[in-house]
Amino acid sequence: MKVWRYAGLMLTYRCNAACRFCYYYCGPQADGLLPTELAVQAWAALRRLAGPSAKIHLTGGEPFLVFDRLLEICQEAQRRGLGGADYVETNAGWVGDETETRRCLRALDETGLKRLKISWDVFHAEFVPADKVRLLVRLAQEELGPDRVLVRWQHWLNALDDTAALGESERLAVMRQAMAEEGGRFTGRAAETLGTLFADQSPDELIGRHCQRSILGAKGVHIDPYGNVFSGQCSGMAVGNLHTTGLDALWKGFDPDASDFWKTLCQAGPGGFLEPTRVLGYEPQARYASKCHLCTDIRRFFFDKGRYLSIICPNECYGTQGV
Ligand code: SF4
Ligand code: SF4
Repeated sequence: MKVWRYAGLMLTYRCNAACRFCYYYCGPQADGLLPTELAVQAWAALRRLAGPSAKIHLTGGEPFLVFDRLLEICQEAQRRGLGGADYVETNAGWVGDETETRRCLRALDETGLKRLKISWDVFHAEFVPADKVRLLVRLAQEELGPDRVLVRWQHWLNALDDTAALGESERLAVMRQAMAEEGGRFTGRAAETLGTLFADQSPDELIGRHCQRSILGAKGVHIDPYGNVFSGQCSGMAVGNLHTTGLDALWKGFDPDASDFWKTLCQAGPGGFLEPTRVLGYEPQARYASKCHLCTDIRRFFFDKGRYLSIICPNECYGTQGV
């Protein structure tokens, strides 16, 4: 199993946006707040695991909606000698007053933050006006320096002010293009809202597409506000929870062969669940966009049935809380 070298600390599932391509169901009604101590312990554990190459980023939801917690975690990590975060990821939707925005950026800068990553594309554009993004880019470049500000994706910012003027079919065509370009994964809300746009493979065609590389070869993890640890980008299925096991102990102790859920995914992929779940009443859709789309559909079935309770979680990955 590859050593985890990065951890994305998800401060909250709350977000000013509710993007169609979200891997979770983040939105204004979603919740959760990552405890500072849990976050800093995970940070320290990653340093023990990966040494100086450990990289921590802070994300959400929208982490600036819980700015006090964001700052507290960065300050505490600095106080314990863990270094600055690699980056904080934001959609710029929180930006309003220029002075307040500068104050937030300076405060993070003082904790040793290396970069600010501003995410914006056709999906974010449904919720965050381009002008806010441009304002944050300018202020961040002035406060942190241009080299420390990443815009993902600059070409969308150049090309698209907002999607309000687009009709739904035109908008979907642009989203289809973005999903292909950005390599988006059909899990969480993305599976529900975009999966059918791309659905061109029968469940049987997805049999045998195993996930060994995604699970055992993941370069890092995401840690949600409740301490759930997701391998790489595989949201909604926890390899463990930091409230009971430290991150380095989790990595050392993770044994897919000891759990039929992980063993099936590693050896056969989500297609390996088709036969056993059909017996339980699962009815697959006619077509899926990818194995991750099928995986999400089957996990939703497990979630509804209360199966694999310690793995299939939390509500915010299955759309049962918030929007
Ligand atoms: S993709 Fe990011 S900005 Fe969009 S709803 Fe999810 S967390 Fe919020
Ligand atoms: S199919 Fe499931 S386990 Fe495999 S990579 Fe996709 S989300 Fe992860």
